[in-house]
Amino acid sequence: MKFCIHRGSDQIGGSCVELEHGGERILVDLGLPLDQEFDTADLPPIEGSERSNSKILAVLLSHSHRDHWGLLPKLPLPIDVYLGRKALSMMTAARPFVPGGYVPERAVTYQDRVPFNVGPFEVTPYLADHSGFDAYSLLIRAGGKTILYSGDIRSHGRKAALFQKFLADAPAPVDVLLMEGSSLGRLPRERRFETETDIEQRLVEVLSATEGMLVVACSVQNIDRVVSVYRAAKRSGRQLLVDAYGAEILKATDTASIPKPSGDWDDVKVYIPQFQRRLLVRNGIAHLVDSYKGRRIFPEKLSGQASKSVMIVRPWMLTDLQEVGALEGARAVWSQWEGYLTSEPGVAFTEKCKALDIPLETIHTSGHADIHALQQYAAAVNPVRLVPIHTFFPSQFSELFANVELSPDGNWVEI
Ligand SMILES: [Zn+2]
Ligand SMILES: [Zn+2]
Repeated sequence: MKFCIHRGSDQIGGSCVELEHGGERILVDLGLPLDQEFDTADLPPIEGSERSNSKILAVLLSHSHRDHWGLLPKLPLPIDVYLGRKALSMMTAARPFVPGGYVPERAVTYQDRVPFNVGPFEVTPYLADHSGFDAYSLLIRAGGKTILYSGDIRSHGRKAALFQKFLADAPAPVDVLLMEGSSLGRLPRERRFETETDIEQRLVEVLSATEGMLVVACSVQNIDRVVSVYRAAKRSGRQLLVDAYGAEILKATDTASIPKPSGDWDDVKVYIPQFQRRLLVRNGIAHLVDSYKGRRIFPEKLSGQASKSVMIVRPWMLTDLQEVGALEGARAVWSQWEGYLTSEPGVAFTEKCKALDIPLETIHTSGHADIHALQQYAAAVNPVRLVPIHTFFPSQFSELFANVELSPDGNWVEI
């Protein structure tokens, strides 16, 4: 077996790895680089990818973040795309709500620790703790050799037990570990990230000082964070409000322990901003609101519910909330990467808060492993070779991990 990192050896985002054995090939992830727009981004130079009859058997996706699948729509169809069942469900739910939403035409779903075969490749997914829901490390065997692709991982989320489970029973032997290193260069070696439980506690503290509504700007696809927000709301005697996009994403998790506006979750309600009402009609999905019956908070009632609510918002929603008079005594929390605050729509959010005299603070923790956790992961796998991916600092790996070997984009490595 041999492999080539087409993209990701020295950048975060746009990850794409090709594996070849006996003339048969698969791709692992095909992401959109973070600094590129879909329309102008090029596929990495994968031989034959411009032809629909190429010998690429399939694409395996580690998870549903766009920096791991975003260039898929540029591959000539048809091709089988393997991904987690719940990841597919979330991509399907998100499609009508987000620009560039996409669902693979020929999706094949896999499950945690259930091996499957694609041509000569045997693949075993390992469900991982990550800010993206239903994310996996992928173990791939062919010709008596083994590659482990870490995907995006962490150890401080709400699924930390999955990380410990992996450490306790890591696959062996592994010839090559392709391991992410998002945190290298971003934080000192010994610093640990806050846990989601820490985030929940900080939200509780903010809530104790909030008279009106607490608006939290986070991605509803960051399910761990939504759970932290929900738990903080509940501990503060408040209900959680989401828009229709949030409602559909939470329902799509299809997981009993995750709050959603259905079933017995009486303290999760739906507020549909004016702009979204028009979007639902335009996209032919206005019928979705029928399923929120009895759980809707209508605009004229929102201000009366504000002091008993925490709402997950996207920046554009503030104007709508202001118009219905729901921001009296409100506070705001930015609960995603702070870097987004300096670009649109983060700037607009900050300015709007300032104009409305709404106190704003950032409460967030990374979706990626800190260095200590990466060292635990690498030590547990103990690979013959550890190759950096999904990092801006591959050259720092050799100071932190054993058996490191760099492989630049486009370089083929025989195992
Ligand atoms: Zn990523
Ligand atoms: Zn990710």
